[in-house]
Amino acid sequence: MSRKYVIVGGVAGGMSAATRLRRLQEDAEIIVFEKGPHVSFANCGLPYYLGGEITDREALLVQTPAKLKARFNLDVRENSTVTAIDPTAKQVTVQSGDHTYSENYDALILSPGAKAIVPQLPGLKTADNVFTLRNIPDTDRIDSYLQTTGAQTAVVIGGGAIGLEAAENLRRRGLQVSLVEAGSHVFPALDEEMAAPLATSLRTHGVQVHLNDAVKEIGRQTVTLNSGQQLPADIILLAVGVKPNTDLTQSTGIKLGPTGGIAVDEHYQTSQKDIYAVGDAIEVTNQISEQPALIALASPANRQGRQVADVLSGVPTTNRGSIGTAIVRVFETVAATTGLSEAHAHKLGLHLKVAHISAKSHATYYPGAQPIWLKAIFAPDSGKIYGAAAVGTDGVDKRIDVLATAIKGGLTVFDLPELELTYAPPFGVAKDPVNMLGYVASNVARGTSQTIQWHELKAALAQGKQLLDVRDPDEYSQGHFAAAINMPLDQLREHLDELDPKQDYIVSCQTGLRSYIAERLLRGHGFHVQNLDGAIGLYQQVRSELLTTDRKEN
Ligand SMILES: Cc1cc2nc3c(=O)[nH]c(=O)nc-3n(C[C@H](O)[C@H](O)[C@H](O)COP(=O)(O)OP(=O)(O)OC[C@H]3O[C@@H](n4cnc5c(N)ncnc54)[C@H](O)[C@@H]3O)c2cc1C
Repeated sequence: MSRKYVIVGGVAGGMSAATRLRRLQEDAEIIVFEKGPHVSFANCGLPYYLGGEITDREALLVQTPAKLKARFNLDVRENSTVTAIDPTAKQVTVQSGDHTYSENYDALILSPGAKAIVPQLPGLKTADNVFTLRNIPDTDRIDSYLQTTGAQTAVVIGGGAIGLEAAENLRRRGLQVSLVEAGSHVFPALDEEMAAPLATSLRTHGVQVHLNDAVKEIGRQTVTLNSGQQLPADIILLAVGVKPNTDLTQSTGIKLGPTGGIAVDEHYQTSQKDIYAVGDAIEVTNQISEQPALIALASPANRQGRQVADVLSGVPTTNRGSIGTAIVRVFETVAATTGLSEAHAHKLGLHLKVAHISAKSHATYYPGAQPIWLKAIFAPDSGKIYGAAAVGTDGVDKRIDVLATAIKGGLTVFDLPELELTYAPPFGVAKDPVNMLGYVASNVARGTSQTIQWHELKAALAQGKQLLDVRDPDEYSQGHFAAAINMPLDQLREHLDELDPKQDYIVSCQTGLRSYIAERLLRGHGFHVQNLDGAIGLYQQVRSELLTTDRKEN
């Protein structure tokens, strides 16, 4: 007997569910309710339309109800809000303009997405220049406001992915932009040293970045920060994060999880029979921490939509959770993450080690090779990869995608050198940065290399450890740690008698590779030595306090 499916939300999760259901059940009745005026629109493309990189507004409208009817025989109803669910009668109430009606279902799929968090800031309620960016009507409102008012200055509140993309695109549009982030760095999914180049890139392109500062109040075309600074703000974009849209759960008894997302089981079933949920609205299991988590990203939402259709069609499928893989571009700088950050892993109390490497996006002798930093966070005993991050201008996406695949596939850092990745000079390196990360992390895991992290350096020097800089004198003279003695690697063996066997040493170079060779050499001669992971190159991305004045700018 044919079944009737009702789907709430017609974008990533909802439309993936609807189209997969049709492919699996030709005779089913499938109705999709969408509150807004568009289904299947490209929300991820909205910032780029605002900045003018995407010029064709129609390109954002990936599908229309007419096309979905023709190809998939879907009954798509835009401008139709599901306002209530009666789980006993298996019925939803729908509001469309002035018209209210009900529709029954055999199974209901909720994919209502997330809502922008709107903090209770003094002055916010009365301001008419504050916007959030979630959908095409939001984008049109911002676009029209910019055009009609001739706004010259913008404040973006929040340095997450959407805030960063909005800041870049408002700047591209010619506005004077300030970005305010309460935390110590932008893109909080990343650790501080990996996110720092994003802020540098914003500043290089004329965006003022205010870190460790929060908005105190919104005034008439100004924003006042806790620090007292006042920023000009013809337009304000609020991008402080999202929360699951759980409006429909309140009166239905659908249970929420500890994170506030809709709780679902391994088949995406909510606590109410025949009601399923997917996408940004649900709580998932973080596959690495095995803790409940909110992971509001397009790839999981699309996958979950397809999987719930499989479940409802009897195709064996399990909701295995997500790891959280994300990427952001700020002008020429790209940063990406998969799995846990170091900060998150520490918060969970995981026993972990970290390795950073600096490499080139492809063979150095082939034109255009760009530097890239990679980081792995892992368990030293098992080699389990807790997370990875990358930042650079080219090849970041490729490396993080490989690492995300490795994590999902259960590979360890010991397996990374085994990966056989594409190589020809324009594309990569025979020892790909991911292989190199595996070599370095394996060395750290096995104790072949004993490292110290950039944020531990200050305390270590205060304890009396001596820093040796093994770069060449000309590199050293261009900028170095104030406390470092220069002892070039190629002359180190000749100068061993100048070192004190009772002293603890830290070796540093530009990126950590030469200093690793020095570390092995010194340890081979019985010295106590640690390698500064990422060396001065990584340190100066984040801090300047221990450096000599000639290299303080960052
Ligand atoms: C500006 C922006 C940029 C983004 N960029 C990226 C990116 O680059 N990469 C990435 O991975 N993710 C990105 N995301 C996140 C990504 O778009 C979401 O994770 C994904 O769309 C979630 O899918 P979903 O189906 O859960 O919700 P959505 O795609 O948000 O769809 C939910 C829909 O449900 C509708 N709805 C809600 N309540 C009701 C109701 N009661 N009745 C009827 N309809 C209802 C809403 O109107 C909405 O259209 C971005 C999001 C935004 C807003």
